[in-house]
Amino acid sequence: MTLLEGSVGVEDLVLLEPLDQESLIRNLQLRYEKKEIYTYIGNVLVSVNPYQQLPIYDLEFVAKYRDYTFYELKPHIYALANMAYQSLRDQDRDQCILITGESGAGKTEASKLVMSYVAAVCGKGEQVNSVKEQLLQSNPVLEAFGNAKTIRNNNSSRFGKYMDIEFDFKGSPLGGVITNYLLEKSRVVKQLEGERNFHIFYQLLAGADAQLLKALKLERDTGGYAYLNLDTSRVDGMDDDANFKVLQSAMTVIGFSEEEIRQVLEVAALVLKLGNVELVNEFQANGVPASGIRDGRGVQEIGELVGLNSVELERALCSRTMETAKEKVVTALNVVQAQYARDALAKNIYSRLFNWLVNRINESIKVGTGEKRKVMGVLDIYGFEILEDNSFEQFVINYCNEKLQQVFIEMTLKEEQEEYEREGIPWVKVDYFDNGVICNLIEHNQRGILAMLDEECLRPGVVSDSTFLAKLNQLFSKHSHYESKVTQNAQRQYDHSMGLSCFRICHYAGKVTYNVNSFIDKNNDLLFRDLSQAMWKARHPLLRSLFPEGDPKQASLKRPPTAGAQFKSSVTTLMKNLYSKNPNYIRCIKPNEHQQRGHFSFELVSVQARYLGLLENVRVRRAGYAYRQVYGSFLERYRLLSRSTWPRWNGGDREGVEKVLGELSISSEELAFGKTKIFIRSPKTLFYLEEHRRLR
Ligand code: ATP
Ligand code: MG
Repeated sequence: MTLLEGSVGVEDLVLLEPLDQESLIRNLQLRYEKKEIYTYIGNVLVSVNPYQQLPIYDLEFVAKYRDYTFYELKPHIYALANMAYQSLRDQDRDQCILITGESGAGKTEASKLVMSYVAAVCGKGEQVNSVKEQLLQSNPVLEAFGNAKTIRNNNSSRFGKYMDIEFDFKGSPLGGVITNYLLEKSRVVKQLEGERNFHIFYQLLAGADAQLLKALKLERDTGGYAYLNLDTSRVDGMDDDANFKVLQSAMTVIGFSEEEIRQVLEVAALVLKLGNVELVNEFQANGVPASGIRDGRGVQEIGELVGLNSVELERALCSRTMETAKEKVVTALNVVQAQYARDALAKNIYSRLFNWLVNRINESIKVGTGEKRKVMGVLDIYGFEILEDNSFEQFVINYCNEKLQQVFIEMTLKEEQEEYEREGIPWVKVDYFDNGVICNLIEHNQRGILAMLDEECLRPGVVSDSTFLAKLNQLFSKHSHYESKVTQNAQRQYDHSMGLSCFRICHYAGKVTYNVNSFIDKNNDLLFRDLSQAMWKARHPLLRSLFPEGDPKQASLKRPPTAGAQFKSSVTTLMKNLYSKNPNYIRCIKPNEHQQRGHFSFELVSVQARYLGLLENVRVRRAGYAYRQVYGSFLERYRLLSRSTWPRWNGGDREGVEKVLGELSISSEELAFGKTKIFIRSPKTLFYLEEHRRLR
């Protein structure tokens, strides 16, 4: 009999024997089929999305898990949340909870479960409850504006999120700070077939009453908007109308005034209406192509909505002013350029609105300075991505995952080492793959890919995506984690899967081919000054505040940091923040591609297990000692195996454990006696003990 047959598999993958990719996945599958979606790797939680409501999250479960320590009950997300919270409250150690996994794996649901568990067990009283409410209500607001239906997930977060929840010395919540990463703003103007724009647009059109719609100059029919995909306006099981009410009430709870809510909706309406501004070919008197607006009504309405002169808006959309030291030259944009400008404006307005919302929520939940506090950070961020066509977005997302992997390995090893030190046990060296070389390839200050991209964006003269690629090829031709057509040809490797405009990085999780098309443009992320100036001139206070650089008095010629540089700097800050805390990991896995309950695809899970580095995780975990337990708990479980300790034992815990293990003649190689814990080297020994116990 193998260990797995007829059972629910092992609850902790560290105890898996034999250990390989196949047995690891089989174990997860076996458990999944028994609706055991949670499994440990030491203190890491692996969670497989059940795609159904399981009856394991109610108050009864909260009450159960708050009274037990980590390994005493079945693996559960509450056990992890409880361990983190108790260690924060009682041992004064700041915590972070890192949730990773691919789209649809259950990260956001996991982060909400952690938050609601902590809210249920921490502090009481009116004041505390109102803080909890505000923290929890930030979710529906950010989801309305930052989530969308994609092919992979009906409620996919299109931004990364890190939230610090702050507590007082007693463990009652005081407030928090949210940081957001890289909103997928291209979605505002275009979505793949079968996908939707951000939820807010549909919520607004379905949920606003007739009077509000009229005030926003909108029509209820989603089919009338160029920025909304025609084929997908409804999502099964999602009630946009009801969610609009949820959104409004959440905003009120957080502390948005009625006026603020109205202004936010006006800006959202403005984005929709911009999409309907139809640009057409026109010609100047000299025959040079120019562009114009087909029907003036749309811009007229926009003008009325946000207090903007419609002639001025038209001019900003259809022409571009170049300023030199001596003169201003206005050139007409052709229709393609004008459409590009309009879409760039819509994306910019929306992503700035999103940032504004995050800041506004932070203002409400901010904790006054001076108070000493304990912090629990929760990170819900996109996992490693390999799409068919990988662009700048995948590049930075995968860079972020590379950094998270680095934190993970370093911190897990460090924690092991510290535990051995605390327990007075000699450290056993562990071999592992150090991905520092890949991180460096991307982020090195002078010679990294991001630095090269910035250099190309700032360099005068003719630059293009291909000059950028040529530069990479020249610099990294010998780098062990970089490949491209050119470097391959030089080495006489003919790989037809890679196009001429691509480079490939060998990430820790696998090779990814990136297409350099539009890298320069996306990194530059520039908005024509004509557009920011036009927005700044709007009488609408919120819209105007989103474009401070449009103020002619402010208009310095200093350019804002590039998208890549901004991302790198926020990742660096995030890493610093994580390193200062005690990490807790939740690894989320999607069991199938169809958002379907009960179906477990071995292949799909294998790929994710690789991206998440699960096997490496188990290996690192048990490199020294696979299992450890405090003497008391260990003795309680196994004392029935020895005549000396069963049925009665009056000695100390450690002596009791020595007696039990001594009588079973377990080799001393297998064991180490720490100050408070017994360490067992291989899982086999533990099975041996378990087998004996079963036979008793
Ligand atoms: P993305 O990266 O696209 O944001 P995600 O990892 O955040 O994906 P979620 O939105 O958390 O994924 O989960 C997708 C869906 O899976 C949820 O809307 C829900 O239907 C289901 N789901 C996830 N976790 C659970 C759970 N613990 N219990 C029941 N259903 C779940
Ligand atoms: Mg999500």
